[in-house]
Amino acid sequence: MNARRCSRVGCGQEAAWTLTYVYADQMAVLGPLAHAADPHSYDLCERHADRTAPPQGWLLTRVGMRQLSA
Ligand SMILES: [Zn+2]
Repeated sequence: MNARRCSRVGCGQEAAWTLTYVYADQMAVLGPLAHAADPHSYDLCERHADRTAPPQGWLLTRVGMRQLSA
């Protein structure tokens, strides 16, 4: 088994989430780690998933992720 790593430069933590960009809908979907690698998706660790913000004008949808406390 090869562990999936966070795709952020210099991070190297184990990936826990997958961020996928849906260009047609200008939507970014953050969900549980995807099984298959996709050219439009990025694996992220817990910390970087929490910090992820969508590009200007895009929606970010979180799937199956705990709510962040304010
Ligand atoms: Zn990371």
